[in-house]
Amino acid sequence: MPEGKIIKALSGFYYVLDGEEVYQCRGRGLFRKNKVTPLVGDYVVFEAENKTDGTVTEIKPRKNELIRPQISNVDQAILVFSAVEPDFSPALLDRFLVLIEDNEIEPIIVVTKLDLVTAENQKKLSQYIKDYQKLGYTVLETSSVTAGGIEELVPYLEGKTSVFAGQSGVGKSSLLNAINPELALKTDDISSHLGRGKHTTRHVELIHIGSGLVADTPGFSSLEFMEMEAERLSYCFPEMHKHGEDCKFRACLHDKEPKCAVKEAVDSGEIPRYRYEHYMQFLEEIRDRKPRY
Ligand code: GDP
Ligand code: ZN
Repeated sequence: MPEGKIIKALSGFYYVLDGEEVYQCRGRGLFRKNKVTPLVGDYVVFEAENKTDGTVTEIKPRKNELIRPQISNVDQAILVFSAVEPDFSPALLDRFLVLIEDNEIEPIIVVTKLDLVTAENQKKLSQYIKDYQKLGYTVLETSSVTAGGIEELVPYLEGKTSVFAGQSGVGKSSLLNAINPELALKTDDISSHLGRGKHTTRHVELIHIGSGLVADTPGFSSLEFMEMEAERLSYCFPEMHKHGEDCKFRACLHDKEPKCAVKEAVDSGEIPRYRYEHYMQFLEEIRDRKPRY
């Protein structure tokens, strides 16, 4: 039986992409019975009745599932951060990175509006970019105005399901338009395709960019560490996870424990101090949310 991926759900129909073809499918009553609802992003088995219609018969196990937008099997998140307007914010970037790492999604950091960078903010920005690259993250520098760096981003989207994330106004819609002008997404407009307000009910759709699929709604609008355990947090900071193996205590949270290899790496400059400060800030947030025993 053919298999495909749901790219759109609308009025009880699931649009299943199989190769180049899209089938308009109904779901079997089976899903209702088992309380599993097919999601956009799901890999499914379906029965084709003809070249355009079919019935979804099975949902494959999900790799992950985002709540907003409601979408499954996301391979990577394109984290869009402007160099200026608004200024590049490592605090916000780290918040996104933790949530993305927690969902086992690959992050790609895209810095936009490079054309607006002045000699004054260039130095600080370059240092941040170097820091994140050293941590092992892919960082791309782009401008939707000059189209600089856009070509380098495209290969990263190939064959993957991606979700764009980042504050409103950083240039997500502009970036997608620069990649694929046919999309003609409205920019700088709250009701625009990507920058759509939170309260609208329109469903998410996966759109084609080359051989890649991109969610047309930005992800990670809630940046709270809802269900995260304190122990999990340092796994979401790759450098702390790595250095943490040398801490004296196995369950070291790198807070007040003695002989902490993470704090030593911060003191020696191996781990940027701001990364550690953000870690501590998130740890406090997690502790505040839960009773401590
Ligand atoms: P979104 O809310 O993240 O989708 O951001 P938009 O794509 O709507 O962009 C917000 C504003 O920033 C708009 O006025 C864009 O024209 C502007 N903008 C986006 N990218 C760039 C860029 O690379 N350079 C400059 N100078 N302006 C940009
Ligand atoms: Zn430690």
